[in-house]
Amino acid sequence: MEYEAVIGLETHVQLKTLSKMWCGCANEFGASPNSNVCPVCLGFPGVLPVANEQALRLTVLTGLLLNCSIPSRAKFDRKNYFYPDSAKNYQVTQYDQPSTREGWIDFESGGRLETVRITRAHLEEDVGKNVHFERCSGVDFNRAGVPLLEIVSEPEICSADMACDYLNALTDILVRGGISDCDMEKGMVRCDVNVSVRPKGSKALGAKIEIKNMNTFSGVRRALDYEIPRQIAAVQRGERLAQETRRWDDIGGITESMRSKEDAHDYRYFPEPDLMPFEPSDSWLAQVRAQVVELPLARKRRFMEQFQLPPSDAQALTDDDAAGNYFQRIVAGHRSPKTIANWVINNLKGKLAESGFSFGELQFPEVGIPQLVDLVEAGKISTTMAQEVFLEMFRTGELPGGIVERRGLSQVSDAGAIEALCRQVIEANPKSADDFRAGRGAALNFLKGQVMKLSKGKANPGVVGDVLERLLNG
Ligand code: ADP
Ligand code: MG
Ligand code: ZN
Repeated sequence: MEYEAVIGLETHVQLKTLSKMWCGCANEFGASPNSNVCPVCLGFPGVLPVANEQALRLTVLTGLLLNCSIPSRAKFDRKNYFYPDSAKNYQVTQYDQPSTREGWIDFESGGRLETVRITRAHLEEDVGKNVHFERCSGVDFNRAGVPLLEIVSEPEICSADMACDYLNALTDILVRGGISDCDMEKGMVRCDVNVSVRPKGSKALGAKIEIKNMNTFSGVRRALDYEIPRQIAAVQRGERLAQETRRWDDIGGITESMRSKEDAHDYRYFPEPDLMPFEPSDSWLAQVRAQVVELPLARKRRFMEQFQLPPSDAQALTDDDAAGNYFQRIVAGHRSPKTIANWVINNLKGKLAESGFSFGELQFPEVGIPQLVDLVEAGKISTTMAQEVFLEMFRTGELPGGIVERRGLSQVSDAGAIEALCRQVIEANPKSADDFRAGRGAALNFLKGQVMKLSKGKANPGVVGDVLERLLNG
């Protein structure tokens, strides 16, 4: 029998706020251990949490970006457990009334458009970090109380590739929306991978195996590449898989059992008594709604439709947000968007990278590239000259029209002037002229090259070709 994998992801991302979720301590990576702490995030008795409004805003904004509904009332709950990384012995989270629910993400995977539904995205707090030394362990509480968003997907992902594409799409959206920097190296994104297998075509779900706390996407891929065949082999041997939690051993490249359902935690959730339920007003919601940005995939598709860009160009202008914004501003009303896109992607981005400047620091005004394209299309300068003009424009900030005029670069399209040059070249190269008349077409290219040289590159190559043919055939 053939089996298929079913995967659901619980992704945790740190929100991009200045301060922590319930106190004024900095939300900052890399500070010396236990320097960003206070009685609130250290869980001293008698302290009271005050919700970080920006974190609430970013949570609701995430919900909007992920097509979720925003309930009119959300509340916070305590998830109780005893572990050194939490000085309070509970984590504040949203249990049965989360801030957002029932959305979806569209993303591209394996050349297809996929949709995965989002069960919910709720707000909680991060916990401290245990650090192990040779003879003892320590806890760094700088991370304790950092706002954390948990985004839960429906079990609708069916391969390791699709899981990675989902995660990349999700983090792209969150970065684009200013929700989180999603810097994996700083531990800003972690996920729990839930995976089961079932006979292909079956609707029922198999027993869920949860692989905890993955902190790289390549780890997610490798863990699934190990776990899916392991489960399939087990059921094919006739084993009955039971729900369990497993750990990914990154060095060994295997998952190993941590605990079964029988010894699952009982978190004794109950409403957080120190916090009011959150009931956003219409005007507050409207403010958040105004922050909604166009998602990467939507932008890519729009660039393809509106400007007839090929997928690769649209993708390049989506991956680089600043380039996409710049393109969008300068292309407005121009009849050759594809050519404008080429200049941005192939020329401008390279020069910017080389010089270390950003789009905001460009010397030349935004009409520069459209004007350059116009000059080429009107036959005033050749594409080769355009490259030169572009470099000068980039360096000096002068507009192409001015550069062309000042340096006398204007391409010669005047058939009369070109004809004189052509006659000169034919006279000087009688052998090639005869070759052409004898049917050897390549000779024309040689003659054309000579005319271009004679004109110092200023002749319009199309016109040169036409005039040469007319003279030679005449
Ligand atoms: P829990 O209450 O144990 O956290 P949930 O039902 O809320 O479990 O699901 C947690 C995550 O596991 C979700 O992302 C969900 O899509 C995924 N999931 C649930 N059941 C399965 C299953 N049988 N196979 C794979 N993933 C699953
Ligand atoms: Mg879970
Ligand atoms: Zn604090």
